[in-house]
Amino acid sequence: MIKGYQSNINFSKLFHVTFDLDLQMEERFSSAIFFLANIDGQLITMREVGGYASGVIEVIYGLGSKLITEQLPFETNNYLIDAVPITLQQNGESWTGYFGLVLSKDEGNTEIVRSLLLGFKQSLIMTTSYLEIKQDLDVLQKKENIDQMLAKLLKETKYTDSLEIFVYALLEKLKKIVTIGDFALLLPNRNEDLLIPRFATHSSILDNKQDYILPYNEIIEAVNRLENDEVRVLTNTSGIKLAALKDKFENFEVVPLEKNGKLFGVLIYHNCVQQGKNYGQLKSCVLDLIYESASLIYKLLTFENVLKEQKRRELLLQVTKKFHSSMDVSAILREIIEALNEVFPSFDIHLLLSHEWEVSDDLPIMQLSYSKDQENEVATNAYLTGKIQIEDSIIKRRSIVYAPLRGKQGVYGILKIIASDSFVFPEHEIDFIEVLADTGGNAIENAELYQQSRQLVEDLQLINKTSHQINSNLRLSDTISFMTKQIKSSFHAQEIGFFMFRPNGDIEVIDGSTNYFLKETSLNEINAFCDQIKRDKDALFIGDLTAQVPYLLRPFRSFLAVPMVQSGELKGAVFIVHEHAYHFSFNKFKLLQSLIHHSTLAFTNSMLHEELEKLVITDHLTRLYARNFLDEKIEVFMEQDAYGCFVLFDIDNFKQINDLYGHQVGDDIIIQVANIIKRNIKSTDIAARWGGEELAVYLPKVDHKVGKVVAERIRRKVAEETSPSVTISCGISDWRQVHNEKSLKSLFNQADKALYMAKRSGKNLVVIHDEKVD
Ligand code: GH3
Ligand code: MG
Ligand code: MG
Repeated sequence: MIKGYQSNINFSKLFHVTFDLDLQMEERFSSAIFFLANIDGQLITMREVGGYASGVIEVIYGLGSKLITEQLPFETNNYLIDAVPITLQQNGESWTGYFGLVLSKDEGNTEIVRSLLLGFKQSLIMTTSYLEIKQDLDVLQKKENIDQMLAKLLKETKYTDSLEIFVYALLEKLKKIVTIGDFALLLPNRNEDLLIPRFATHSSILDNKQDYILPYNEIIEAVNRLENDEVRVLTNTSGIKLAALKDKFENFEVVPLEKNGKLFGVLIYHNCVQQGKNYGQLKSCVLDLIYESASLIYKLLTFENVLKEQKRRELLLQVTKKFHSSMDVSAILREIIEALNEVFPSFDIHLLLSHEWEVSDDLPIMQLSYSKDQENEVATNAYLTGKIQIEDSIIKRRSIVYAPLRGKQGVYGILKIIASDSFVFPEHEIDFIEVLADTGGNAIENAELYQQSRQLVEDLQLINKTSHQINSNLRLSDTISFMTKQIKSSFHAQEIGFFMFRPNGDIEVIDGSTNYFLKETSLNEINAFCDQIKRDKDALFIGDLTAQVPYLLRPFRSFLAVPMVQSGELKGAVFIVHEHAYHFSFNKFKLLQSLIHHSTLAFTNSMLHEELEKLVITDHLTRLYARNFLDEKIEVFMEQDAYGCFVLFDIDNFKQINDLYGHQVGDDIIIQVANIIKRNIKSTDIAARWGGEELAVYLPKVDHKVGKVVAERIRRKVAEETSPSVTISCGISDWRQVHNEKSLKSLFNQADKALYMAKRSGKNLVVIHDEKVD
């Protein structure tokens, strides 16, 4: 049996209800006090009826052990006192004590008092059962209220499927019930090692999340320690180390939210405990509402995660699709960054790239450096191992992920994601990042391979086209012009020079090189480089001339030189330049080497061939054309032109020169005359050695009058400039298309005849062939 004063029976309520139900009570007595005392006679509660009479209080407090020691009823100070034993039962609990009455002697005798007591005793016993039933009814009614409240809440939130909307409505409702204090819903992080505030009725809770973070496992342990029939609430006394909470708040309670035995969150409230007398009632109401809402919160949470997952899958799919359709590295990198920004709007995202890509400036892209400082070390590690690296810093309150952009052939960069305000990077997110980084890495690889293969194809095409062109019997200068053009467009070179190294040490610029190198002064600029090439027989790759030889090849700064080597023999070199420093990539350097390597054979062959050809058509003594070449040329001119002029020269009295000075001097005289002729004709005219000391010039599209002017000039100059001095005689003939019988043979014959006339007329003369001469 539980002693009265320890009982949970609400005696005052019992009295209150019982006497309130009896409406005539007040009229029945002018002054009476009903009381309950426990079995030791200790007073538990009392109720006066009709008002206090003088001295009654003293009687009441003087009762004490008299209830046990005196014979009941008894009298004291004009008051009649009687009591009967009573047993009350409520909620399965039983209590036994005394039910008594103190009444003025004037108001009744002992018999009346006893019967009154027995009657009221019955009333009390009935009231307890009534209260018990009412309590159940209250509970039922309250349950109904909670359901209604929840239904109202759902209606107010328009049956939302948003976790946020519902939870905020719920928290506000809870706050309204208790009027004081704040509520917050804590949900596990992705690692499920911490519970972090997600929603709260006060913004300061969300602003200072770290003060409210709870360790997940400790909460579970504390929940497990709760006894089954207890209300499932954790408080200061639950033995959990709610360190931060405990320090900050005197009053807080943690309501675990469970589904299928698994903790999926907690609702905490603080500052509302012990506020007001009916807190207990409010608390049970609050708890009921929370428990009723729990499964809804769980459903919305699951739905939210499903949505999130679905969104991510869609995003990945979309990104992957874009990757496959793009061969543009810049576009791919932008796509990766945008996808991450969408999923992690609060994270900082950076890309560290291993190659220099041409990317837009607005992307957060940095070059991956391999320096040894702490931060770089982790990034470098991720790059070298190709494995994702996570750096959690509790002190700095942040977590960084370094995800390598992996392809099949290598790692192309590092995706650096900084999650501030996070102790541990959410594991679940890492899978997503990894998939995205891998997809991106493969896309970059594809784009790079594509670009590489396109470049290779372009390079091969260049080499192929060039070799083909060179091998198709072009003139050497045309070939060089063609190569110059190719190199200009493929290498974006500004000036291109082709040089032949002559066996005598001379360097010869080949026609078809660009203007800069054709200038005579340029030879001084390139001599040093040529010497180096001759010595090392190796190509030169200079990124910035100003750093090495600032006085050479100004204003050009980028310089490539590739030797032309044939059968192990250095034949010459090709130089290309640009005014910007580091303009040519190493790949371009390699390409130029390959291009020159592939063309050198054809190139030198072509040069040899051209030289041989020249040799055949050139008279080796005078370096004028040979006679047969002149014959062929005149024949061609006679086909295409309307007219032309032929001049034949013969040195006068040459036999004597030979006799006087010897053959050597004779030869030299012939060379002197040849040079005078060369200097005094146009480049379109053709001078040839006709034979012996006879020389000839053909002047296309010129008649005999102009021919005579030219011949006279040459005759005069020979007389003036030769040493030892000689004179020449000239015979001139011309032809016209209208003279149908004009032939090569008659042209020569007529010139010969005119020359004969000149000799006969005294030498050192110019004679035009005249029809009358025949
Ligand atoms: P003319 O004024 O009548 O022409 O008198 P000529 O002495 O020049 O007479 P001719 O034309 O008959 O003689 C040409 C001489 O030139 C014959 C030959 O010895 C000489 N000769 C021809 N070819 C060469 C050559 O290549 N070198 C030298 N040194 N002499 C040559
Ligand atoms: Mg002669
Ligand atoms: Mg002669």
